[in-house]
Amino acid sequence: MVGGLKMEGRIWIPKNVEKKEACPCGSEKTYEKCCLKKGLKYRNYGKNHEDKNILIEESECDREYRKITGVVLDTINKADMENGLSVSYGVESLKQLYGLYEDSISIFSKYSSCTKGCSQCCHMYVDLTAMEAEVIRKFVIENFTNEEIEKIMCRLEENKDLVPDYRELVGLEKMSDQLDSYWSKQIPCPFLNEEKECGIYQVRPVKCRTFMAFSKEENCTYEDNKSFRIETPMGNGLLIGADAISTNVKRFKDLKAEDKKTNLLALKKSIYHWFKDGFNNIDRSI
Ligand code: SF4
Ligand code: SF4
Ligand SMILES: [Zn+2]
Repeated sequence: MVGGLKMEGRIWIPKNVEKKEACPCGSEKTYEKCCLKKGLKYRNYGKNHEDKNILIEESECDREYRKITGVVLDTINKADMENGLSVSYGVESLKQLYGLYEDSISIFSKYSSCTKGCSQCCHMYVDLTAMEAEVIRKFVIENFTNEEIEKIMCRLEENKDLVPDYRELVGLEKMSDQLDSYWSKQIPCPFLNEEKECGIYQVRPVKCRTFMAFSKEENCTYEDNKSFRIETPMGNGLLIGADAISTNVKRFKDLKAEDKKTNLLALKKSIYHWFKDGFNNIDRSI
């Protein structure tokens, strides 16, 4: 326990704000005499890099989560059971989900230490679904010059054999060892540009969107490795949503995860491997 919070790995579990504590809204009354009376339930996720308490009001969080799951359900309901969704419909639905997530996550991200140009986390293993890869592929084709595409292809070529194949990443223990060993190699993401910024920021994968630190930037280095992160309901909604959209798109329907038990999860490959043959098509080999 640190600062009243239980730590599980590097993910922190929130605690409820006590009745006698100062009200999180800043009214200078106690919580019980202020927001608790209005039925507002705050949870404290701990202190961020600026020593501020990360205070989240539960009903607001639930509302934002429901907006995300609502879009996911709408999208899936539109999928004809036999034919599934078209790729273009999947692209638009995923982009809509990204927009919704970015708005909803602001209740957490206002406390985060992540900034433009901070890129330690862009040396970690990032995997994504076919649908996320397709959104990136389209963005690259529509926005990058041939010369820029060439540069990315060189980075892909240079490092793709150093990236573990998704088939090697079976069993949680082995997986975390492999991911740790990958991070120790400090291989940059192929989309990290010379300014140390994400070249595909608008369409970056779900894993990058949900990876958010609340500790100081220096805690994110491989050597220090003490970053403080929070698993948010909206992040979980986005992860499930991207999986669901991918498995409901006709062209990607058969791209399921190795885990045959649920048969629900979309296949996830590394950001390196979807584009190993360039940007005319994503690599759909299993
Ligand atoms: S997760 Fe860490 S390294 Fe990545 S942007 Fe945030 S603070 Fe920087
Ligand atoms: S896609 Fe962008 S945010 Fe994600 S790892 Fe690559 S450079 Fe970083
Ligand atoms: Zn209050």
